[in-house]
Amino acid sequence: MRRARTLMVLAILLVVGCAPQIETVLPTLMPSPLPTPTTVLTVSTAPVAVTTETSTPLSTATPQPTSTEEVKSVTFTIVYDNNDYDERLRTAWGFACLVETGEATILFDTGGDGPTLLGNMDTLGLDPLEIDAIVLSHAHGDHTGGLAGLLDTGARPTVYVPAAFPASFKNEVRSHTELVEVSGPMEILPRMLFIRSVHTTGEMGASIVEQALVVETEAGLVVVTGCAHPGVEKLARRAKESVGGEIYLVMGGFHLSSASRQRIESIIADFRELGVQRVAPCHCTGDQARQMFSDAFGKDYIPAGVGRVITIGAGEVE
Ligand SMILES: [Zn+2]
Ligand SMILES: [Zn+2]
Repeated sequence: MRRARTLMVLAILLVVGCAPQIETVLPTLMPSPLPTPTTVLTVSTAPVAVTTETSTPLSTATPQPTSTEEVKSVTFTIVYDNNDYDERLRTAWGFACLVETGEATILFDTGGDGPTLLGNMDTLGLDPLEIDAIVLSHAHGDHTGGLAGLLDTGARPTVYVPAAFPASFKNEVRSHTELVEVSGPMEILPRMLFIRSVHTTGEMGASIVEQALVVETEAGLVVVTGCAHPGVEKLARRAKESVGGEIYLVMGGFHLSSASRQRIESIIADFRELGVQRVAPCHCTGDQARQMFSDAFGKDYIPAGVGRVITIGAGEVE
């Protein structure tokens, strides 16, 4: 009964958003956390050109951290996305990315449903009980829908949400585990305790409040965005200004499915000005924007989808 109640509360509070045809929070309430057939978008991307760089998932055989060298690397694994990449995994509309610093494990967003999230993690050999913290980008169901299922495994990570989240959602999470309300930029993993500090941009945006994750790596900052409703260039700028240092990679949903070419070109120009070195757009970025980023960044465009693993550090990138 406990589980059923949790599922209902978390599902009712947050409806599916972010889909190209659903730009804002819909008044319709979902009956369950599982996305309905009409809201699940499984997008099959065209096969990428066969090259050694893009046809093989990166560092899938990364060993468990056993040395100080391993502790220095940071691994980003997209465990939930509507773009395919690793054919063993399920695609569904939403986004989730697991960040392993060697010292701590953080899940950024939880996708749209628990079974897909947990199934993909199981296939990849990732244990939900090892997650220390969950950071939710914004209150749309395709980013929060997997939380109830994840808590149902017995995992008790600290959950970081924008303070603007509905009070009932925050209270429900508090009944299971520690919850931290985020307003301004802050550290998720304090620098004084960890080699690699992890930050949030803090709340941004007006109508849809959102935070992005910022991870310090050997190569520079990695900014992970959920849906980037406030503007991916604004999130990246806040990340650079609040944390300091250069941006190595921006990855995640860029929310440009319905954006004009002019708007996308403007963001690419902003990224150039910010010194963004590489990009890995997925989720709600849209095919046209992904192609334009690919054309603009060349080898520094990382094709991203569910199962993509990006490892940075320990003397190597990827
Ligand atoms: Zn959204
Ligand atoms: Zn989304």
